[in-house]
Amino acid sequence: MAMKEFKAESKKLMDMMINSIYTNKEIFLRELISNASDAIDKLYYTSLTDTSVGLNKDDFRILLTLDKENRLLTLSDNGIGMSREDLEENLGTIAHSGSLNFKKENQDENIDIIGQFGVGFYSSFMVADEVTVISRAYGSSEAWKWSSHGVDGYTIEPADKDDVGTDIYLHIKPNTETDNYDQFVEEYSLVAIVKKYSDYVRYPINMFRQKSRMKAKPEDAGEDYTPEYESYTELETLNSMVPIWKKAKSEVTEEEYAEFYKSKFYDYTDPARVIVSRTEGSANYNALLFVPARQPYDYYTKEYEKGLALYASGVLIMEKCADLLPDHFGFMKGIVDSQDLSLNISREMLQQDHQLKRIRTALEKKIKNELLAMLRTDREKYEGFWNAFGRQLKFGAYSEYGMHAELLRDLLLFYSAKQQKLVTLEEYVEAMPAEQKCIYFAAGENTDRLAKLPAAQLVLDKGYDLLLLTEDVDEFCLQVMNSYPRKDAEGKDGTVEFKNVNSGDLGLESDEEKKAAEEATAENQSLFDAMKLALGDAVAAIKVSTRLKDHPVCLSAEGPLSIEMEKVLASQPGAEGVKSRKVLELNAAHPVFEALKAAQSAGDEEKLASYSRILLAQAQLIEGLPVDDPVAYAQAVCSLMK
Ligand code: ADP
Repeated sequence: MAMKEFKAESKKLMDMMINSIYTNKEIFLRELISNASDAIDKLYYTSLTDTSVGLNKDDFRILLTLDKENRLLTLSDNGIGMSREDLEENLGTIAHSGSLNFKKENQDENIDIIGQFGVGFYSSFMVADEVTVISRAYGSSEAWKWSSHGVDGYTIEPADKDDVGTDIYLHIKPNTETDNYDQFVEEYSLVAIVKKYSDYVRYPINMFRQKSRMKAKPEDAGEDYTPEYESYTELETLNSMVPIWKKAKSEVTEEEYAEFYKSKFYDYTDPARVIVSRTEGSANYNALLFVPARQPYDYYTKEYEKGLALYASGVLIMEKCADLLPDHFGFMKGIVDSQDLSLNISREMLQQDHQLKRIRTALEKKIKNELLAMLRTDREKYEGFWNAFGRQLKFGAYSEYGMHAELLRDLLLFYSAKQQKLVTLEEYVEAMPAEQKCIYFAAGENTDRLAKLPAAQLVLDKGYDLLLLTEDVDEFCLQVMNSYPRKDAEGKDGTVEFKNVNSGDLGLESDEEKKAAEEATAENQSLFDAMKLALGDAVAAIKVSTRLKDHPVCLSAEGPLSIEMEKVLASQPGAEGVKSRKVLELNAAHPVFEALKAAQSAGDEEKLASYSRILLAQAQLIEGLPVDDPVAYAQAVCSLMK
């Protein structure tokens, strides 16, 4: 019988697994039991519509058998089984190719990646030097035997098996100097491992246990009778079978939740928060949800699939039901179990299901409140969560024309220039002086540079705080929200608008200041006309500024599209041509302004044009915009030095 090779990638992974210094080898049992339980789920599900399965719910079980002398541990299930093709396909390759790359990248960290990418079965090679799988698939009369010693490959041949299901035989390795494998042929430690990791598995995990009992006292026993003992075996169910999500929160320890989360959802860090939720109003369900503490490596890619596992009365219907989670909470993991859903419900029907919609609405509210609670009571943890998923929440607030902005706005954090830390909008508004009219923000790439913008300084000098936005979605998010609630001086409900410091009217100037600037603009109209002629379409208008103190020049934007938004759109296909309406603002009190006027009155058009272009380029540089013609700009500045 020919030996078949594993696919290259599987081989590497298996090699790592066998030689790993991984200390937590005991999880191989969790992995095999979880596979067995999945296989039973599949057959049980089939049995609901197909009477030929011939099994009732109570007939399903997983059986552990220990032959200590021969160091043989067997795990049997009466689940759906595997055909020859299944065995080759499932046990000869690795389902998710991301796992190997992931392991390579994280080689130094001794993290629990095993079992997190569908490499579960391979973990048996951590403890066994020979693994044999005998399986008979449901609907087939033949059985197959798959066998392997590890990396070299595997063999596959016909076998005999009376019932549908899978038996996995593990020949446990001998002890080494560093590793104790004997524990895996020790009854009590196997029992402990099952309890620790697989207690909630819904099918009984049975094992014949060695017990001892006192023999009955013979009737003719005399005074000096000493009791005799005999050993016997008894089939015991090791797990409590109550799914963890059906238990009250007080019955489950934090470690148990964390352990469950990590093994079920392929994470190696504890969750940031556990949410247990039951029947709310019209929807009947148990939900156990987790806020992950870290971002999955594929989170912001197309590969990431959101969704919660959906069970109907304890039976898995769907591993990832996307309809249960709005996109803005797409990072949530967890399980929903409802007795209101029909077991035979199809995926298409699910989308229409009213019960499911009610559950979704209730969960959305619950998740929001839990996140808010985390924000208020455990800020550090929340900020960790925010680092991982804040971008998602901001996109959520922005998407669908701000439909979810009200729900999400209090979960958002932005960087405060004054406090040098992340603040909520509520915190910003509460700290606002009574006379402050807007929530100010500046948008760009780098907080230090933003805080130095002339307009930013103006706001800060007033004693007002300023939000420094550095992510592309930030300004779009605020624009869509438009305003935030604030009570006025009399305690009446009102709102306060968001204001980009680079927008035309900052609401900082007094009416006199504004009027003075307008008059100065009118007085210098012929100068500005001449400059505009030189600059062409690069600017929409030129005017005297109210906001400049030390700088000679800056750019502001009129209308809804800011300069920063233009930059974001420029990087998006299809939106490259979208431009903001830019206004060149000049400081009339600056010596440079005198130089401009002098050039004009001397009738030196060329000089005026050159000065105008230099000033525009400077304003563009300050804004972080590309200069139209950098070489011409450099030459123009040099010629000033001559
Ligand atoms: P995962 O379970 O994460 O997909 P595994 O390597 O543990 O990855 O298993 C690969 C596949 O082999 C499973 O998805 C399943 O289809 C099949 N399988 C494993 N164990 C069993 C079993 N006991 N009964 C039936 N199928 C199984």
